Amino acid sequence: RAKTSAEIRQAFLDYFRANDHEIVPSSSLVPTNDPTLLFTNAGMVQFKETFLGHERRPYSRAASAQRCVRAGGKHNDLENVGYTARHHTFFEMLGNFSFGDYFKREAIQYAWEFLTEVLQLPPQRLWVTVFEEDDEAANIWLEEIGVAPERFARIGAHDNFWAMGDTGPCGPCSEIFYDHGPEVAGGPPGSAQADGDRFVEIWNLVFMQYDRDEHGRLSALPRPCVDTGMGLERIAAVVQGMHNNFEIDLFHHLVHSAARVAGSADLSNNSLRVIADHIRACAFLIVDGVFPGNEGRGYVLRRIIRRAIRHGYKLGIEEAFFYRLVSPLVEKMGAAYPALEQGRAQAERILKQEEERFRETLEQGLKLLEGDLRRLESQTIPGATIFKLYDTYGFPVDLTGDIARERGLGLDMPGFEQAMAAQRERARAASAFKVDYKETGDFEGHTEFTGYDHLQDQGLVTALYAEGRRRNHLEAG
Ligand code: ATP
Ligand code: MG
Ligand code: MG
Ligand code: MG
Repeated sequence: RAKTSAEIRQAFLDYFRANDHEIVPSSSLVPTNDPTLLFTNAGMVQFKETFLGHERRPYSRAASAQRCVRAGGKHNDLENVGYTARHHTFFEMLGNFSFGDYFKREAIQYAWEFLTEVLQLPPQRLWVTVFEEDDEAANIWLEEIGVAPERFARIGAHDNFWAMGDTGPCGPCSEIFYDHGPEVAGGPPGSAQADGDRFVEIWNLVFMQYDRDEHGRLSALPRPCVDTGMGLERIAAVVQGMHNNFEIDLFHHLVHSAARVAGSADLSNNSLRVIADHIRACAFLIVDGVFPGNEGRGYVLRRIIRRAIRHGYKLGIEEAFFYRLVSPLVEKMGAAYPALEQGRAQAERILKQEEERFRETLEQGLKLLEGDLRRLESQTIPGATIFKLYDTYGFPVDLTGDIARERGLGLDMPGFEQAMAAQRERARAASAFKVDYKETGDFEGHTEFTGYDHLQDQGLVTALYAEGRRRNHLEAG
């Protein structure tokens, strides 16, 4: 019998405990003392100050299973969910860390031993990349570990050089991939087809060895550090012989439960998978104190909830259903996360309320959209439609984007921006007579949302800011 996700998590922590690592509990999804970060998106987040040397801990080696959300900010996988076999909004990152203790050699040895001996993965299935200039790591892999050169690649800075920010600790990284075999589409790391689900990145080993100053100059850190991260769901898929994360034990129960609620028989239905993904993010965020709202973290949560509800509607579910998946989630993950069990009733109540509220406008909004789409002459949803859905029916722009993508349509974002600008003008004019108009939105995490280069993301940025400045009609009503 293959190990369950819970057993893999435990095996990981046991292995590193046996190698003198302190086991540190997962921190909250809401980072403490870091307004620049929307959500905890990696295991290293709770150790940031230690890596920077600002905080000392009574241990120099640690390991954790960290709950993470990547649904906004620098790491945003929301648009990948339902489209790849390996991305979630919420996932668990297994990590081991060295604070000026061991470095490349031990980090690589530990990772290799854990994968090939503890989990018994066949070495011929594992591919390794290093930063192109990192001869030291290359030698360890090729000469000491004995990885075959044909499954080894040197990669540029885009994928294999990690930095905490524009300045500060940074360094090369080395990634380990698993080859799911020729029946899955995708090419080896570094190739043009690398973005498929065949060669899946399972573990990233970051070697923090430099400090970068404001001129971009690198100087060696006196005590180099190690930060690693391995996705639990991805490694579970490998161990359980599945090519898709949504087929692992953890998701099985959730997908089944969603299918039961939907009266659906096809377990590989994409909407069921999206819902199974989203219930984890939503329930855990609520338990960590994030509530649906119109700004910052709360708005990201609201967007995820509304996407899930729309998928439920698509499956033909006719009443509030999303909250009913909290219990199946608690059954699977409550043992590892007791706070989830404690927060169950609250999560159910909030999700139910949010769904009942949105259902009223969802159906009308979808009807409006269908009508507009019938009249459509181009392959693009007009800005005016996106705005109407957003403003009157509470459709976040990415929700409309999700529908557009399913149908191979584009979004007229400049048109949407224009409609938004016009709306802002009207609000400004009207606000001259109102005292409660919120001129400056306090948008948590806004520093992360700047600098996006995709038009769609820029649109979202504007939408998010705007939403922070005015109250959604649903809130007001
Ligand atoms: P990818 O290139 O596949 O998007 P990444 O390079 O963005 O992954 P890292 O930031 O290196 O990921 O995170 C460390 C590990 O966490 C990854 O190797 C992977 O196993 C896991 N991981 C990252 N993002 C996700 C996600 N959205 N869902 C599930 N696991 C993830
Ligand atoms: Mg990624
Ligand atoms: Mg990657
Ligand atoms: Mg990576």
